[in-house]
Amino acid sequence: MNTVFWFRRDLRLGDNEALTLAATEANGAKLAACYLVDLSKFERLEGIRQHSLVESLRSLNDDMGLSLAVIQRTNLDEAASRLGEIALSLGAKTVIASRAFDPEGVAEQNRVGLALKEHGVFLKLVGSNYAVTPGSVSKPDGTPYRVYTPFYKAWVQLLELKTFDSAESVLKRTDFAVTNESGQLPSATKPSPIRVRAGEQFALRTFDRFKRRALNSYDELRNRADISGTSHLSHALAHGEIHPRTLLAELDDTPGHEVFRKEIAWREFYADVLWHNPHTADDYFEPRFAGMRYDSGPEAERRFDAWKAGRTGYPMVDAGMRQLAETGWMHNRLRMIVASFLVKDLHLEWQRGAAWFEANLSDFDPASNSHGWQWTAGCGTDASPYYRVFNPVMQGLKFDPNGDYVRKFIPELGHIKGAAVHEPWNLLDGYAGGYAEPIVDHAREREESLVRLEELKQR
Ligand code: FAD
Repeated sequence: MNTVFWFRRDLRLGDNEALTLAATEANGAKLAACYLVDLSKFERLEGIRQHSLVESLRSLNDDMGLSLAVIQRTNLDEAASRLGEIALSLGAKTVIASRAFDPEGVAEQNRVGLALKEHGVFLKLVGSNYAVTPGSVSKPDGTPYRVYTPFYKAWVQLLELKTFDSAESVLKRTDFAVTNESGQLPSATKPSPIRVRAGEQFALRTFDRFKRRALNSYDELRNRADISGTSHLSHALAHGEIHPRTLLAELDDTPGHEVFRKEIAWREFYADVLWHNPHTADDYFEPRFAGMRYDSGPEAERRFDAWKAGRTGYPMVDAGMRQLAETGWMHNRLRMIVASFLVKDLHLEWQRGAAWFEANLSDFDPASNSHGWQWTAGCGTDASPYYRVFNPVMQGLKFDPNGDYVRKFIPELGHIKGAAVHEPWNLLDGYAGGYAEPIVDHAREREESLVRLEELKQR
């Protein structure tokens, strides 16, 4: 029977539960494989986000022999209506897609479902972008976990690593329908700081390289900013070019593999927390932190601008922010350092930094971003009993011990050798390259941050 498949954040052919089902239901008849572009939303995206999506779609379209139907309309309802028309023209009764669990994805599938219903077409949601479906891990009393470690212990018990059809098998048994929209990729309207490389085959090669290059030492080296010790698979996971189960199926119980499994589980934990608490996409997980004293006014704005531009005068913070601007990606350790600095040194609300990340990260993921920020800000799921304030200098000395990472992204500090680059204020020629002086004094702001926390506790 002719069938329609709606690609979402699952831009791959292999190990795709919903696509496997669609190919089975089509059973050799036509399968229209579509992607919906809400142009008003697409045009608001920054260049890196536009190019990331376009390259993922380009690669998928190539893999499908140019038969991906990219439906571009000025809003989602019109795009969904066209999806319904395609279904009707093929005599298909259902559109099959992967289920989303974040608030925007849920709202999207509700709207598309309603638009399809008007055409008498049913939206069937199957599978997810997670190894364990968000919402299915719970405490013995049935309530959701709020802390990672017990979540992980329960999650690992529920892991089912059954894989679905390979890309070759899907291609072999599928006759993709050709529509007016086939192969019509959206055009990016803004430049990207880098040439984005994306797609399912690229993701699989990236994973293969990671297994050879860094997986076995991942437990020891993943925090080092100056070494490529992580997988760089976050773009692929965020766009669904690879499924976490494909990664998990290859892991054993040696330390590097075990820690990598635990990092994949952080992504799943945050998705679960956001599913149970959809308001926390942009609101406080611990509501009392909304009442904390935050800074505002022209000086606060100047500091925020310096943070965004990588000109705070703290080398580790600035290198992280410049890595983001230049590559659309930032090392996890740096994400924590710059987030801590924004909230605890500049006393700005976490949502401002999260919005900047959302605009500029090629791997933007709603759950990991909101909850990565909230964890670091101290208003999220951090089970730590004390209020963490990252010291950017100590973090630099520990995780960039020779200063190579800082020098790579801050040419104004290129003349300083070794670890001294983390403290240019100690050197006579520290500012010879024109580097910015610190906009705040970390030790003083740390105390200020603790004072504000105490005020909150007293209320
Ligand atoms: P690896 O170390 O190789 O990890 C493998 C995969 O595990 C990652 O690709 C990611 O999917 C997952 N993962 C690893 N660490 C984390 C973590 N702490 N939280 C959630 N998932 C994790 N990740 C995003 O994918 N998108 C975001 O928008 C995002 N925003 C973040 C914001 C802040 C403030 C912080 C502290 C972290 C954020 N992260 C986000 C998590 C993490 O920084 C990135 O997933 C990681 O740096 C990506 O690099 P990698 O693929 O080489 O990671």
